Amino acid sequence: MTTPPVCDYEGSDYQTSFWEKGGREYEDRTEAIALKRLLPTSGRLLLELGAGAGRNTPRYLGFDRIVLLDYSRTQLEQAQERLGKSDKYIYVAADVYRLPFVDGLFDAATMIRVLHHMADAPKALAQIKDVLGSGGVFVLEFANKLNLKAIFRYLLGRQKWSPFTPEPVEFAKLNFDFHPMAVRNWLKELGFKIEKTLTLSHFRVGILKRIVPTGILVFLDSISQWTGNFWQLSPSVFMKAKVVGRNAIPPREQDTILSYFKCPACGHSPLVEKENSLECSNCKKKWGVKDGIYDFREPVK
Ligand SMILES: [Zn+2]
Repeated sequence: MTTPPVCDYEGSDYQTSFWEKGGREYEDRTEAIALKRLLPTSGRLLLELGAGAGRNTPRYLGFDRIVLLDYSRTQLEQAQERLGKSDKYIYVAADVYRLPFVDGLFDAATMIRVLHHMADAPKALAQIKDVLGSGGVFVLEFANKLNLKAIFRYLLGRQKWSPFTPEPVEFAKLNFDFHPMAVRNWLKELGFKIEKTLTLSHFRVGILKRIVPTGILVFLDSISQWTGNFWQLSPSVFMKAKVVGRNAIPPREQDTILSYFKCPACGHSPLVEKENSLECSNCKKKWGVKDGIYDFREPVK
């Protein structure tokens, strides 16, 4: 099966170099505020897509269980070190274009700073829609091509691509910025209703971050976030979308972790638990389970 190329953070020190030593406290705190405004405070099961090293996971603690999904196993190992092994966290290495979950499983999903790396965003969004139940909430962050800096650069002739056109721009390999209108249209076509839009990082300007105390910038950004319901000109946009018009899925008889999964190759469920793997009785592929991480990227031999 061919799927679009994946941006792989395997072996990356992204968590340390970008978040902990990269002067990103302002961005991190404004994201915490946006998540609080958009996510339900409690729920049964949440899917965190592109969880990385689990930076945002402690913000979802109102949920009974959280599935941390990432393409990179080493990122998940870092998350495991941070959050520990318990039944509350389920660690899954998988490709977002081939999600290994049964339909309608989750009551919420988040995808923060991940669409940014999607060569085929609508395909990924369709997968997410499938695994959300009726009324399921999806909080999506994306990088906005229609931001003030890009608009000025374009008008001054210092940037070739137009921020005004709907197609994504790949400004570096597997790094995309999106037009808010395009994202809205994809979500609507899939049957999502967009309930709220917040704009973030209005003050992501090097000189401001150096001279203005972070707390003040965070406060100003938290007020400015609400303007996102009217216009979106900041580099980062959060949307809260709800699944509408989907048939309610009957409650499942058992809420075991095994019952969550389907075979990402053929779609069959349930899988059969074997020693160190989950096996598909339909296509016979085996998916590895090692040190508390379910691995659905490639079948094991
Ligand atoms: Zn299968």
